Amino acid sequence: MVQGFDALVVGGGLTGIAVACGLLERGLDTAVLDEGDVAFRASRGTFGLVWLSGKGDGMPHYVDWTRLSTELWPEFAAHLQELTGVDTEYAKCGGLYYCLGDTHFAERMGVLERINAVAEGPGVIYEVWDRPQLLKQMPMVGPDVTAAIYCADDGDCNPLRLLHALHKAFKMRGGVYLQNRKVTALGSQGARTVVTAGQEKFQCDRLVLAAGLGNIQIGALIGLTVPMAPSRGQILVSQRVAPVLPMLSHVIRQTSEGSIMFGDSFEDVGFDATVTPNVIGDIARNAVRTYPFLKSVRIVRAWGCLRPMPHDRYPIYDAIPDLPNAFIVNSHSGVTLAAVHVNALAAKIADGDLGPDLACYRMGRFDVQKIA
Ligand SMILES: Cc1cc2nc3c(=O)[nH]c(=O)nc-3n(C[C@H](O)[C@H](O)[C@H](O)COP(=O)(O)OP(=O)(O)OC[C@H]3O[C@@H](n4cnc5c(N)ncnc54)[C@H](O)[C@@H]3O)c2cc1C
Repeated sequence: MVQGFDALVVGGGLTGIAVACGLLERGLDTAVLDEGDVAFRASRGTFGLVWLSGKGDGMPHYVDWTRLSTELWPEFAAHLQELTGVDTEYAKCGGLYYCLGDTHFAERMGVLERINAVAEGPGVIYEVWDRPQLLKQMPMVGPDVTAAIYCADDGDCNPLRLLHALHKAFKMRGGVYLQNRKVTALGSQGARTVVTAGQEKFQCDRLVLAAGLGNIQIGALIGLTVPMAPSRGQILVSQRVAPVLPMLSHVIRQTSEGSIMFGDSFEDVGFDATVTPNVIGDIARNAVRTYPFLKSVRIVRAWGCLRPMPHDRYPIYDAIPDLPNAFIVNSHSGVTLAAVHVNALAAKIADGDLGPDLACYRMGRFDVQKIA
């Protein structure tokens, strides 16, 4: 028997479930097909930043897109909590980017100035804090921290609670979540897309491939090369300690339970999610340089996790050739962009047209230009 839906989303990570919630909100009868525990799942090993500053160097629209998401986040989080009772612990608390020396500072300022030079909207609004100013706010920083760049738009959330809240909202609104359904074939019948998962077949009027790294394999089923690769990040988690960090940085945050999380390596090691002592050592050393008190805090956990990383680090939003009303969605900032994925992106997919403003995220941007 073939099951039919208005919309099918492949992948139940943060990206897929956010888009699925948005499609449901727009009145589409929506199902999510999700591979389950054996798949690589970035959304279960992520850090939790809802972060704007530094995003969009070389892609002006991405600054506005990320800003839109950070602006939508407060209402998005409140709405999710009202509906599901799950607090995502979202806080727009402002974020610090620590600079360890003058060269580091100059590099970061270069990034922010390039972004703002071409930004269409307000760009990144930031303050430079010299060391005396920083010490007033964060007296625990180490002597190697020479300055910090503060952005009031940055914040964080508990990403596992976010994932849980979105899944709960999806089911409460009548969405159909089908686990252990690995998509194994794609095709079409008239104006509808046909999706095969093992022995089962599904038909839909809208298809969204949001399977993270799984999109590489699914793309290959239809001859589509998805321009992305895994990027490993390793994270360390400390024992719980009394509140000690009133502000978060782009690589160190204290959770509501008291643990301090740090890390954020970007490693090009293929499909290998293991934890490696050399990288963990580097992360720990940098963290202690930033906050020397961490030397006496016990680490209780570490993990490695693979980001679904488009080759230029910007999202992929595109229509899939030869399949009716089918779209591909990948992003390596699925926490930050969750609010805009539920709202603006889902609205465009529901309309069946991503529109000109998202054209910069099409896969064609990676095509090699032919020399005449
Ligand atoms: C260490 C680390 C730190 C990060 N920190 C941040 C951060 O601070 N802020 C931020 O915004 N982002 C951060 N990210 C990125 C963010 O976690 C990802 O962008 C996001 O989780 C991607 O979600 P996804 O749904 O696209 O992919 P995934 O979470 O990987 O989900 C993909 C889903 O697709 C399913 N699937 C795969 N293949 C198939 C198939 N054939 N059929 C059916 N289902 C399939 C899988 O089961 C899985 O559930 C971080 C990532 C990592 C690894």
